[in-house]
Amino acid sequence: MSAVSEIIRCSNFAAIKHKEQRRKDKEKTPYINHPIGVANILTEEAIITDVAVIQAALLHDTVEDTNTTFEEIQEMFGEEVTGIVREVTDDKNLPKLDRKQKQIEHAPHASYKAKLVKLADKLYNLRDLNRCTPGGWTEARVTEYFLWAKKVVDGLRGTNQSMEESLDQLFKMRDIL
Ligand code: NDP
Ligand code: ZN
Repeated sequence: MSAVSEIIRCSNFAAIKHKEQRRKDKEKTPYINHPIGVANILTEEAIITDVAVIQAALLHDTVEDTNTTFEEIQEMFGEEVTGIVREVTDDKNLPKLDRKQKQIEHAPHASYKAKLVKLADKLYNLRDLNRCTPGGWTEARVTEYFLWAKKVVDGLRGTNQSMEESLDQLFKMRDIL
């Protein structure tokens, strides 16, 4: 199957899975904008051409945030893509604060391909928070999120210069670099 059809198949799968979901911003942007935006950061800014990485980016929140299973992803998109998605998926059985701590601890041990997806995901979410504060979030909560994201990103360094520089600019703007 061609790279183009692999990527469109993933986009279509993710769009169907996320169809009822919205982002937390005030405009309630369709959720699918996020995984597509993460994949777009990888191709346009990080200059990644590895199809499995782009597919994993498109699918990265399907298991965490929808009824999708790893078995389903394995059947549809194979072992490599499933492995990357598995690495970037939080364990939903854990309380939220534990999940966030696990992200900090696991980041340095992730594979190169998973680190790329994680960096692009953090970059997208921090830009989103800079663009507008989600409804019900205080400025303190936004700051706390940046501080946590910085700790995760510190464990991902040495992976992609372009994304790390963009993240550092965002941290500098918040005086946390
Ligand atoms: P959450 O984990 O609740 O939300 C952040 C996540 O939401 C992001 O990682 C992103 O994940 C997704 N997301 C969706 N829309 C947006 C958007 N527009 N901009 C950025 N991210 C978006 O946030 P916290 O880390 O702040 O919360 C941690 C825990 O603390 C939670 O249990 C929360 O309920 C609790 N809490 C914290 C408060 C505080 O002041 N810090 C106050 C009240 C509660 P993805 O990439 O998966 O889409
Ligand atoms: Zn995400």
